[in-house]
Amino acid sequence: MRYLILSDIHSNQPALDAVLADAAGEFDQIICCGDLVGYGADPNSVVDWARGNVQAVVRGNHDKACAGLDDLEWFNPVARSSAAWTIETLRAENTAYLRELPKGPVAVNGYQILHGSPVDEDEYLVAAQEVARVRFHLQTKLSFFGHTHVQGGFLLTPTGVVRVPKTPPGQDHQVLEFEDDVSYLINPGSVGQPRDGDPRAAYVLYNSEEKWLTYHRVVYDIALAQAKIHEAQLPQMLANRLSNGA
Ligand code: ZN
Repeated sequence: MRYLILSDIHSNQPALDAVLADAAGEFDQIICCGDLVGYGADPNSVVDWARGNVQAVVRGNHDKACAGLDDLEWFNPVARSSAAWTIETLRAENTAYLRELPKGPVAVNGYQILHGSPVDEDEYLVAAQEVARVRFHLQTKLSFFGHTHVQGGFLLTPTGVVRVPKTPPGQDHQVLEFEDDVSYLINPGSVGQPRDGDPRAAYVLYNSEEKWLTYHRVVYDIALAQAKIHEAQLPQMLANRLSNGA
């Protein structure tokens, strides 16, 4: 099976469109590691699309907040105002869909997906030491996660945890072939709000028979996503940060 692995779409329809066009014909199923909504201006079109096209998905912290399952107190002011706008904007059937999203980890054919960490859906796994602490909670040799908006992830070897770098700026993809004695905790990167210094939309293609995956980056219409954010009168900072991927 060939999987398109996505995370952190964050209501950015132009970025999602670019990913789907770039990956067209290369996958059989679409999997998402959470945060369909929050920050961006297209929550309804992204959730409409997810309802019809995504085979497996876990909820992210923004999905939870925008479905009214979490109070907004712990969000910073910008995230809070985007969540409040999203709550008002979502149609009832889309709110209902977000409300029913399962908490990760969720098992998919032989691997698992989660939003933050295997022990806490809201925890950020950034450093190798943080991964070393939770690695034995992973149920499968391959797991996909999101939340940090940083493409890459970690190789879990018998002797320690090693970072996987993101796709280099001058390239559009990078291959990772699996080895037998290594486990993998893979972050496809963020579709709609990258924070790893590369503003291009991020995704992963995973081939389960041939045991490899490729990290991808694709240019998208950032100006269009920014114009939609202005039009929705969401905080300016949410538009600005898309330009530098930070
Ligand atoms: Zn996110």
